Amino acid sequence: MGIDPNYRQNRQVVGEHEGHKIYGPVDEPKVLGIHGTIVGVDFDVCIADGSCITACPVNVFRWFDTPGNPVSEKKADPFNEQACIFCMACVNVCPVAAIDVKPP
Ligand code: SF4
Repeated sequence: MGIDPNYRQNRQVVGEHEGHKIYGPVDEPKVLGIHGTIVGVDFDVCIADGSCITACPVNVFRWFDTPGNPVSEKKADPFNEQACIFCMACVNVCPVAAIDVKPP
């Protein structure tokens, strides 16, 4: 199952990382929540495919190591979500639908 497109309403903000919000629940390292608000990546869905990192024309993503996570031990972190130009390339290439993009 992919990211919940309504996670911004359905989940609670439980922290911050690199200037973006983290939506819970979080129970590290097994459950990591969703990172980002403009560009949301569900870390519990992300399999570290990396297509989004390659596809993004403005370098919104970079790898973030998540050792011990059962799905993948690194995640595409939307550390630069403010730079998003809403081309939707990342959403279209993600093989597991882990990304939801919504203009602020
Ligand atoms: S929508 Fe486009 S610009 Fe925004 S994060 Fe995805 S690939 Fe990058």
